[in-house]
Amino acid sequence: MSSSSDNTGELIYRFLEQLWPYCRSITGDGVRQTLSDIQQHLQALKVLEIPSGTKALDWTVPDEWNIREAWVKDKKGQTIIDFSVNNLHVVGYSEPFSGKISKKDLLNHLFSLPDQPDLIPYVTSYYKRRWGFCVPYNMLRDFRDDEYEVYIDSDLEPGSLSIGEYVLKGETDKEIVFSTYCCHPSLANDQLSGVGLATYLAKWLSDKHRLKHTYRFLFLPEIIGSAAYLQKNADHLKKQVIAAFNLTCVGDNRMWSYLPSRSGNTLADKAILNLLKYNTAGYKAYTWNDRGSDESMFCAPGIDLPMVSLMRSKYGEFPEYHTSADTLGGTVTVEGLETTFNMFLKLINALENYAYPRALVFGEPQLGKRGLYPDLSIKGSTATVKHMLNVLSYSDGYHDIFDISNRSCIPVEQVLTQLNKLSEHRLVTLEPVNS
Ligand code: ZN
Repeated sequence: MSSSSDNTGELIYRFLEQLWPYCRSITGDGVRQTLSDIQQHLQALKVLEIPSGTKALDWTVPDEWNIREAWVKDKKGQTIIDFSVNNLHVVGYSEPFSGKISKKDLLNHLFSLPDQPDLIPYVTSYYKRRWGFCVPYNMLRDFRDDEYEVYIDSDLEPGSLSIGEYVLKGETDKEIVFSTYCCHPSLANDQLSGVGLATYLAKWLSDKHRLKHTYRFLFLPEIIGSAAYLQKNADHLKKQVIAAFNLTCVGDNRMWSYLPSRSGNTLADKAILNLLKYNTAGYKAYTWNDRGSDESMFCAPGIDLPMVSLMRSKYGEFPEYHTSADTLGGTVTVEGLETTFNMFLKLINALENYAYPRALVFGEPQLGKRGLYPDLSIKGSTATVKHMLNVLSYSDGYHDIFDISNRSCIPVEQVLTQLNKLSEHRLVTLEPVNS
């Protein structure tokens, strides 16, 4: 399994440009259009529609929201806020409104960020009905008229919540889940990057002739989508899933971040920590207390799925987060997407080859007679076989490939290379004890 690419970052970036303009929310046609575009790459992607009012764990699927037009005009009839210019200008889930209102009333419906006065904030109100607009703080001083005309052409009525599900069957029923959310409008790192990465990882896997594990990709609205999906699928997932990853904030090239599962000691945690250790110059480790995304549902008590986030700059932590500055080119770069994609290929490669290797000979084997050891013993001549001997000596059936990597201080890819050589010579087996 080849584990690197040198142009997928570019392809993902172009795909994100295509998805960029849609006004996504937790329900509605923006999500459906996004899922339909993903189907251009993943024809077998199933779209599940879950009706408003359906129980979703402790939540209820809300009414569906769609918006066509929204603006504010001053007394001269000039449009001063326009949804068609930037979809962040409207509070997500704004109910319809049309009428003239005083400046004082309008200001009560405007949201801005005094600390980032030039940016439009991303604001939603899913569970309390209201309407509103989001503007740069610096724009507030331009509201000098005593009356304004407001128009929001939206629907907020029973419909459904859409989820994309793509399953690739492997040789075993044991599953690896990649989940991402597709509920933010035009925001690049906090969220579109995850959609692009998930699509291209699924596409890459779908080209493989042989997969050991079954892979499940989920494109769902954050939190409520997870709840709705788990309501139906938690029992199955609890039985089959060995590792799960929340794909979010994966497109900037600034740093690496790790957010653990609730228990912190799952295979997913172990794999990500190992990869970060050997493939990055450093990373920021967050704790479960820093969570803020779908892991809250997937790892909740009683569900306990092993979900971990490997991110670049974590949501909530980078200055452009949830503002109009989180753009393609502003936060998300081709290089960021490319390096993250390649890191996930390393992850998949390691998980596909996951094993507790066992030595097949008693005592340290004589490598020389198998052509694996230098036939002349002189100072320095055994340096090249050091890694092989280390890998072999940890192959006791109790250390998995990540333990062996950590103990022998080499990346897991190198462990796998050594194990391949050792198993060709029948010195180790990668098969489980009972098979
Ligand atoms: Zn967000």
